[in-house]
Amino acid sequence: MIKHTDFSLKNFNTFGIDAKTSLFIEFNSEAELEKILNEEIDVNNKRFLILGEGSNVLFSEDFHGTVLRNSIEGIQIIYEDERKAVVKSGAGTHWDDLVEFCVRKNLWGIENLSLIPGTVGAAPIQNIGAYGAELKDVLVSVRGFKIGENKFIEMPKETLELSYRNSIFKTKLKNKFIITYVTIELDKSGKPNLSYTGLAKYFNGKNIKEIGIEEVRNAVIEIRRSKLPDPEILGSAGSFFKNPVVNTGTFNKLKLKYPDIVAYKVDEDHWKIPAGWLIDNAGLRGFRTGNTGTYEKQALVIVNYGNASGKEILDLAKFIQTKVKEKYQIELEPEVNII
Ligand SMILES: Cc1cc2nc3c(=O)[nH]c(=O)nc-3n(C[C@H](O)[C@H](O)[C@H](O)COP(=O)(O)OP(=O)(O)OC[C@H]3O[C@@H](n4cnc5c(N)ncnc54)[C@H](O)[C@@H]3O)c2cc1C
Repeated sequence: MIKHTDFSLKNFNTFGIDAKTSLFIEFNSEAELEKILNEEIDVNNKRFLILGEGSNVLFSEDFHGTVLRNSIEGIQIIYEDERKAVVKSGAGTHWDDLVEFCVRKNLWGIENLSLIPGTVGAAPIQNIGAYGAELKDVLVSVRGFKIGENKFIEMPKETLELSYRNSIFKTKLKNKFIITYVTIELDKSGKPNLSYTGLAKYFNGKNIKEIGIEEVRNAVIEIRRSKLPDPEILGSAGSFFKNPVVNTGTFNKLKLKYPDIVAYKVDEDHWKIPAGWLIDNAGLRGFRTGNTGTYEKQALVIVNYGNASGKEILDLAKFIQTKVKEKYQIELEPEVNII
């Protein structure tokens, strides 16, 4: 167990915000977590935050409470037959290490989620997704400590209310469940999921005889690197806002006004509009103010050009929300957890 007081979180969030926490404790096992909960912090009454790699949080100010950093690692195949394999991973494992492990073993299902930053334990929180795949497609269950009941329990996928960038952990169980393990089921004889146009396009004309799991992973990595800033070089938390979903009436009105608008049909009466398009079309791609701005290659990503404070980033996010609301009457909802 590692413990620090009055500790800077600068190296523990991908925005690189120099916010302080009163207490920082890192744990490597369920036994350590239990000890912390028994001896160090009363999570029922004191402010706390579970932190993975901090790639989906914005510290808007110092955190007056305890940051519990989950570092339970390890990946294990717990069941397999000729068709599938069930893989269990410690919540503190780096997500892309799990993807790499599964790709090497030719286990299909998460290759499209290659290179998403963060830990395995945070993946169910917003049901991570990219390039036509989501965690919920493969998730079996999560195990963790349920605050209130004060014990470790296993929660099957069906109870987690997983949807687009959302889960029960962002609503009813917000700050009430500390995920320690995640179990997924993968396919031994899968096929490439090229439902995302950009990924299909990547392979068009490449003359690859058979697209294997490694090719898909490499393609996703290449596309991501060409579009998104590397947090090691430029601080960000990836997409700052969720893509809004509007009804057909609203979409038709927008389409009349903006014939180039991009949208994806969700169901008979709903359309998902890329928030990046809305921000870009409002003239805000590459916009910069002080130490922060929107990324020049993707307007949906807010970046820290140097020593931005969390407040500066939050102010820019609010400015973008106002501009988008004025122009399209659409409310943008943050995807990033604002602390
Ligand atoms: C460059 C970049 C690109 C990105 N691309 C994508 C993308 O394509 N798709 C996508 O979905 N996301 C993307 N993200 C967002 C981010 O990578 C994911 O949300 C990731 O799952 C966050 O993991 P983390 O460990 O950093 O979580 P943190 O940021 O540390 O935490 C996120 C939230 O989860 C909670 N939490 C973390 N661990 C646990 C736990 N063990 N138990 C309970 N609660 C926990 C935290 O309290 C917090 O509310 C991107 C981020 C960056 C910086």
